[in-house]
Amino acid sequence: DVDPKIIDGKAMARQVEDELAAEVTHMKETNGLVPGLAVIIVGERKDSQTYVRAKRKACERVGIASFGYDLPEATTQHDLEVLIEQLNVRADVHGILVQLPLPSHIDSEVVLDKISYEKDVDGFHPLNMGRLCMAGGGREEPRFVPCTPKGCIEMLKRKNVAVAGKNAVVLGRSNIVGLPAAMLLNQMDATVTICHSKTQDLAAKVRDADILVAAVGRAQFVPGDWIKPGAVVIDVGINAVEDASKKSGYRLVGDVDYASCYEKASLITPVPGGVGPMTIAMLLRNTVDGAARSLE
Ligand code: NDP
Repeated sequence: DVDPKIIDGKAMARQVEDELAAEVTHMKETNGLVPGLAVIIVGERKDSQTYVRAKRKACERVGIASFGYDLPEATTQHDLEVLIEQLNVRADVHGILVQLPLPSHIDSEVVLDKISYEKDVDGFHPLNMGRLCMAGGGREEPRFVPCTPKGCIEMLKRKNVAVAGKNAVVLGRSNIVGLPAAMLLNQMDATVTICHSKTQDLAAKVRDADILVAAVGRAQFVPGDWIKPGAVVIDVGINAVEDASKKSGYRLVGDVDYASCYEKASLITPVPGGVGPMTIAMLLRNTVDGAARSLE
């Protein structure tokens, strides 16, 4: 049976994919347009390869054309920038994703800034990030919102979680997750507290949270006794911990201690199978949106 407390990110992502597949079919039939996503990976990091494989497979499932660029570790900054410039002007590419982290000899900031903000499906371009932070009051919206925080918000929406007026606590302030998550919750009229490594009395801050977004990158960091009874817990963390009972020798856990937080929460996302699949679904969403805008 389905546990109503658990936000099943995998099932929800499948639902989003079904919706997108229908939109993609419609786009093909009415406009002859196939949304295209370029996925660039530099080097051989195993975790990055796994993520990239998952993204490409997801594209296939909904009918997005994915263009893979698997570049060697020794790729120069110049060559990577040239590739991005070519992709920026290609009509069949509506989204460009550079898998992070890049090798240390490459300046990621310069590379990400090269991506046309109209194809910036990860939403990391300063123009998209800036517009996200300055949104509201009739201002121009960002072309794209970063996929992981967008996935967190989509989960709240699809679970009909009331956000306006609630206390939302975001653990972590990275440009990729924590900061944009806080901006999005703020736009939904939550009262947002952003916590980080210098925050004093974290427990007291978290105890105030009606909605908690945990993105600290520390295994099982948040204990159940920090959770306000009935709170909604969105666990972004993906941490590998040793587990001799697994063939791989490890298992994945989130940034919250699932068992004890589950007891206190009204809704909680599991790891794996929570925010992860929704992140990929939002990448597909962004790509299809990019393609739709190319028709305007
Ligand atoms: P970063 O390492 O970039 O950021 C971590 C944040 O947590 C920082 O703001 C840091 O504070 C804060 N932090 C670290 N330690 C503490 C502490 N002891 N107390 C309070 N705050 C602390 O990580 P990301 O934002 O990139 O990722 C966070 C987690 O989410 C990781 O587990 C990552 O694997 C996962 N992730 C999952 C994705 C998904 O698809 N599900 C996608 C992206 C990430 P400070 O700023 O002061 O250093």
